Amino acid sequence: MGAVDDFEPGRLTNAILVSHFSLADCRDCGLCTRSCPSARHGGIDPHSLVNGLLEDRVDEDVWDCLLCYICEDVCPVSINLPQLVTRLRYRSSQEGCAPQRFVRGAQAFLKEGRGFPAGSRVAKTREELGLPPLPNGDRAMRELGKVVSRTRFSYD
Ligand code: SF4
Ligand code: SF4
Repeated sequence: MGAVDDFEPGRLTNAILVSHFSLADCRDCGLCTRSCPSARHGGIDPHSLVNGLLEDRVDEDVWDCLLCYICEDVCPVSINLPQLVTRLRYRSSQEGCAPQRFVRGAQAFLKEGRGFPAGSRVAKTREELGLPPLPNGDRAMRELGKVVSRTRFSYD
């Protein structure tokens, strides 16, 4: 699991995801949802996500997931729900449905190598705190460029 090609659009149908993540093994124990910090506050319900996919639907907002991996830890059959969520997010973003806050973060990351703008205010705060200036990001940006190229990731 985890090859870049797993994110090919043709590999992201509900049926393939059900098979790839062995969702039919789900025991309906509900431990994932009972342990999920997002579900506790009205966010994603991972058990419902699994049940929906088994019926060829996505009922949950995958952008509400915190990717904390607690659900995978507690799942008695080791269903990797966070990895499933990342694929569903990828599919959602390819369909142009990613929330703006995520799009902005991705754009900043591609531009600066970090998910937030680090302008003069950040530099001043670091100086006041006695922290060194942020390192030159050239090398990180080169490495990021390779990742972007290999994954064909883009946000134009
Ligand atoms: S990874 Fe997502 S679905 Fe799983 S417990 Fe954390 S917030 Fe909930
Ligand atoms: S913890 Fe695993 S087996 Fe239990 S309901 Fe969630 S996905 Fe299914």
